[in-house]
Amino acid sequence: MKYFRLFANCKIVRGAKRSTLCDLYKGRIKIIPTLLDEVLCKLQEATITDTKIHFESAYDEGIDLYLNDLISDDWGFYTEEPHLFPDMSLEFHSHSLILNSILDWDDNSDYDFSESLRELEELGCENIQIRYYGQDVDVFGHRLISMLKNHNFTYVEFYFREISLHNKDLIGEFINSFLIQKFVVFDCEKTEEMISKEDSNKNLLAQIVYTKSSLSEESCGVIDSKWFYANINFYTEGIDHNTCLNRKVSVSREGFLKNCPSMKNSYGHRSKLSFKELINMEQFNRYWSISKSKVSTCRDCEFRLVCPDCRVFIQDEKDIFSKPAKCKYDPYTSTWS
Ligand code: SF4
Ligand code: SF4
Repeated sequence: MKYFRLFANCKIVRGAKRSTLCDLYKGRIKIIPTLLDEVLCKLQEATITDTKIHFESAYDEGIDLYLNDLISDDWGFYTEEPHLFPDMSLEFHSHSLILNSILDWDDNSDYDFSESLRELEELGCENIQIRYYGQDVDVFGHRLISMLKNHNFTYVEFYFREISLHNKDLIGEFINSFLIQKFVVFDCEKTEEMISKEDSNKNLLAQIVYTKSSLSEESCGVIDSKWFYANINFYTEGIDHNTCLNRKVSVSREGFLKNCPSMKNSYGHRSKLSFKELINMEQFNRYWSISKSKVSTCRDCEFRLVCPDCRVFIQDEKDIFSKPAKCKYDPYTSTWS
């Protein structure tokens, strides 16, 4: 008896009008019609022959064509022993009390930056974004190099204005010390480009993004298909959690603790409140469990498990479960406006 199986890492997400196949290993997203989604779901429990009978043999030829296409494009395979291919676990696991953080800084900031890095590392934070808004990134950058040398963050992004960079060797110094994986140089006068720095074995050392865009607390939260992310961690986290704010902490330039820098309300000043105290505040962590399946419109969107969320710029400020305001996709018509 012949069965068809999707690879365990290829997941179907049904939307209001169509569905997606998300390949969580290869990072691919394929849009499929709802009918194929229904056929694939039936095939997970029945043979190909029984599936065709279930659909009253109305789609026999189409089913064969679709399955052959899916196999040639590496989404699935035929087997006579489906029990040998169990589903993968979709549980999200992380021992980190903080998953990611944003630290903002300008020339007037005076909270304890070094102590903030120390506590973030102690709480297991691996991903950190540092955004410098001041006039002289050379001075701050050299301070940052010596501070980061004492830590082992897995992924660090560093943002600063083009005009604040006087010593062009600064980025090279960071790259040579393996301290930062991504630089975003914003407010660029002319350039709009991305440069990848590799070592002699073609291993990626860092990415440098030059953009004419400005960085501000208002510029965040844009939802675009170029930010869709088909990845096991992102997907599994998004089933029950908010993929932007879950276990995220941020410190504003003035030193106030927030879920993210764009939020209006803060929970206190860094000089008075530790990150550990912050993440135990019920008010603070109320956003963590707002998964896309709880957000209006998004819950019906076929991209909900690969799409980042925003809980600051939302359509209805009074409804924390309303759709991100900066999303132009309508899952009920499958169109981007
Ligand atoms: S409707 Fe929601 S899930 Fe769909 S693309 Fe927009 S923000 Fe993402
Ligand atoms: S919640 Fe919105 S504004 Fe805040 S970091 Fe996420 S995307 Fe940006």
